Amino acid sequence: MVTLEQITLYAKQTGFIFQGSEIYGGLANTWDYGPLGSLLKKNIKEAWIQKFVRENPYNVLLDSSILLNSKVWEASGHIGGFSDPLTENKDNNQRYRADKLIIEHDPSINPDGWTPEKMHEYLVKNKVMGTTNWTPIRSFNMMFQTHQGVVLEQANQIFLRPETAQGIFINFKNIQRTTRKKLPFGVCQVGKAFRNEITPGNFVFRTREFEQMELEFFCKPGTEMEWFNYWKQFMKSWLLNLGIHEENVEFEDHKKEALSHYSNATTDILYKFPWGFDELWGIASRTNFDLNAHQKHSGEDLTYLDPETNERYIPYVVEPSVGVERLVLAFLTNSYKEEKLENDDTRQVLALHPALAPYKVAVLPLMKKVHAEKALQLELELAKHFDVTYDETQNIGKRYRRQDAIGTPFCVTVDQETMENDTVTIRHRDTMAQERLQIKDLKAYIEKYLEF
Ligand code: ATP
Repeated sequence: MVTLEQITLYAKQTGFIFQGSEIYGGLANTWDYGPLGSLLKKNIKEAWIQKFVRENPYNVLLDSSILLNSKVWEASGHIGGFSDPLTENKDNNQRYRADKLIIEHDPSINPDGWTPEKMHEYLVKNKVMGTTNWTPIRSFNMMFQTHQGVVLEQANQIFLRPETAQGIFINFKNIQRTTRKKLPFGVCQVGKAFRNEITPGNFVFRTREFEQMELEFFCKPGTEMEWFNYWKQFMKSWLLNLGIHEENVEFEDHKKEALSHYSNATTDILYKFPWGFDELWGIASRTNFDLNAHQKHSGEDLTYLDPETNERYIPYVVEPSVGVERLVLAFLTNSYKEEKLENDDTRQVLALHPALAPYKVAVLPLMKKVHAEKALQLELELAKHFDVTYDETQNIGKRYRRQDAIGTPFCVTVDQETMENDTVTIRHRDTMAQERLQIKDLKAYIEKYLEF
């Protein structure tokens, strides 16, 4: 298994992920996605939309604002409720969440709603915290604040969204009205979220700026467990169909006692990251907590009139939520291999599913002087349909290796025969096998491999 250091170095050297603000000494825990990384991210998002929206009969897409009326965060509990109880260990200058320390010490305890004093007392009594080397527990809100307009006053204070979900809840009525959808239906959203995390780290696993892909699936009360199980399996299939090895994922059901007050079931899909199994994707059955809260705070009627029973009720919600960057890290570590070849040679291979590969195909002129013009023409033609790259430097073997290392599933070589009969060799990344194809058949041939 690849280590975190190896994958960080690999990502930097190949152009997947660079340190943020690098030429100024960096900005802690920020990352920039290079030419390959940005294509990988785009492909992950497209693959999610493909299965969760385009091919799914229930779901539609939304793109709501990052900046929302602050009343949204009062209703959701992010202002007032969800501030984190923090404490710092003066010996190692590390900050910790007191509630997490308590759960780690005794997973059967749910410290939601405990005062900082009660947490402090518990942690000292159970010798998790010493009395002298820890700071008092303080509440800290993870939302980034800013001001709208030029006057820096309380009234203008707004927040960067810490999740995309609330934008969906506040548009529930608009979407239901305009799509005329009946329950059950879902709303999908992909977008940036910001959290002033206390302990960011592990490369792109936990950062303060990240992208979420969330689905809020609205259903009739009483049917939520059926849909919870449906989406749980759907998420796992999505991962496996895109090449995640089954032994690298695990479901972890939250124990009843550890559930948030509004949830009647929560499961995490854990992925085997280089440091061990950790949360990749969460799914929560959230009852009618969110719509109910928004109905109360906004005064708007957010009930649904069931056309079959003529009943009015607030729908229940099942929410699968995943971070794009965690998927990037999972797909990279899942796919990266150093392969021993026959002649004692090794090659780096990124065995990404072709649907996710940054470039689907590399076009390579066998001899630059003779075949470049035809190869460039072919590149342009293929670029109408796929992300394509072109490489004419060094010998063909080295060029194949470079494409293997960045996950390009196909290399197409333009040679003398191409000039004569419009055929090319197409080489497969994983098997290194080659075959000869008509140029006119290339598009359909490659497209077949993109399906999942
Ligand atoms: P964690 O316990 O790891 O902080 P969470 O339970 O707070 O995560 P959720 O609020 O459920 O996470 O967010 C849903 C998903 O968003 C997570 O499963 C993860 O994939 C992603 N995510 C959350 N916080 C971050 C972050 N700081 N950086 C990157 N991805 C994140």
